Amino acid sequence: MADTGETRDAVLVAGAGIGGLTAALGLAQRGRAVTIVEAFDAPSEIGAGLQVPPNACHVLDQLGVLDNLKKKASVPKRICLGDAVSGRIVLSLDVNRDGADDGTYLTAHRALLHGVLYDAVRSHPAIALLPGHRIVNVTEAADTVTVTAAHGGDRVEFTAPAVIGADGIWSILRHAVAGAGTPQPTGRIAMRAVVPAPAEAQANAVVAWMAPHAHLVTYPVRNAETRNLVAVIRGTTGQTSWSESVDLETLEGLFEKLDRTPYGDLGDHAEWTAWPLYSVDPHGQWHSDRICLLGDAAHGMEPFAAQGAAMAIEDGQVLAGAIADAGADFAHAFKSYHAKRAERVRRVAQRTAFNRFTYHQAGIGRIARNLSFRMRPASAFRADLDWLYGYRA
Ligand SMILES: Cc1cc2nc3c(=O)[nH]c(=O)nc-3n(C[C@H](O)[C@H](O)[C@H](O)COP(=O)(O)OP(=O)(O)OC[C@H]3O[C@@H](n4cnc5c(N)ncnc54)[C@H](O)[C@@H]3O)c2cc1C
Repeated sequence: MADTGETRDAVLVAGAGIGGLTAALGLAQRGRAVTIVEAFDAPSEIGAGLQVPPNACHVLDQLGVLDNLKKKASVPKRICLGDAVSGRIVLSLDVNRDGADDGTYLTAHRALLHGVLYDAVRSHPAIALLPGHRIVNVTEAADTVTVTAAHGGDRVEFTAPAVIGADGIWSILRHAVAGAGTPQPTGRIAMRAVVPAPAEAQANAVVAWMAPHAHLVTYPVRNAETRNLVAVIRGTTGQTSWSESVDLETLEGLFEKLDRTPYGDLGDHAEWTAWPLYSVDPHGQWHSDRICLLGDAAHGMEPFAAQGAAMAIEDGQVLAGAIADAGADFAHAFKSYHAKRAERVRRVAQRTAFNRFTYHQAGIGRIARNLSFRMRPASAFRADLDWLYGYRA
């Protein structure tokens, strides 16, 4: 027999990840009570770095957490694209320009971004945060949704007027939304490590090294004391979460030329983990009348545009606003949220696919890409990104 968890008229958020915490804070700021049901017992240091672009920083500022993040995050000066075959930089864009109105571009460990959101949620009186509750079942009725969670050896039932499915790429909530997209393997894996940062000033940049069918991104995290390395290569791991089995030989072969640059080796002593990359088609359904998906649960994407967490953050804020505007009419709120977000997310997914095509070129395609990057003014590349970074949720 299940215990009954009380949510009264509180909106239930499934998952205290980056999108769920954002949605909860956005709702609470607008006067809504929120209950968050989260599987983990406590946040962990798992994961590696994240880029936090201006479109995400804008929302974090609205939620009052940006200043806390800035205290420990890194503030890169440039985003560079390099050709890993020659070891040369082919494009460099300035970010965080003095006096420019471009917004803030940060890089941080995922645990840092998650931590500032988590602390803000924990101290908000309108939010009840329930870690250690893994959702195992969801049932939608005419006026309510009932969520069952495993908690220790018990089952706890929550009944709420509406549920936000912010439970990530392996979402269980999506099973209750007819027509929702499902995670598809991409045939690529991400490999991640965090290593001590080099002293060189130019290391304060986000650098993506493009190799045939692979790329490696490196940037500072944690006050520039360490840097994050993320490589995307072809392959499958047969796993659905982080794993220790990493093919370092392939990685070193692909990026052997990089020791010519100030960005150095691949962190010989680094602890690498691998993560199979899945994506969720953003054209699937995002909501029913009382259940609404956001972030990776609705449209998980590969990290080629470094916008996965940013999309979850934008989603959370827009969804909170739609619910506040629609009062008790959740079906209307969810339609309005989808109408506001669908085109934006599709465009970002397209950009992700475009970056994958460009970064992973081989042979003549690689030479053409490098030429076009060198010949086109940096200002034209910057203007191309205005729609992405200039979006204000
Ligand atoms: C542990 C972790 C580490 C990551 N590290 C990186 C990284 O280093 N770099 C990067 O670019 N991207 C990383 N990602 C992916 C990136 O953070 C996502 O694109 C972004 O976080 C999407 O946000 P989200 O809120 O949709 O999902 P997530 O941030 O994935 O959050 C989902 C939350 O739901 C919870 N949850 C899942 N199932 C259940 C359930 N049945 N019941 C209750 N709760 C549940 C999870 O524990 C998690 O807290 C990571 C994701 C995770 C989960």
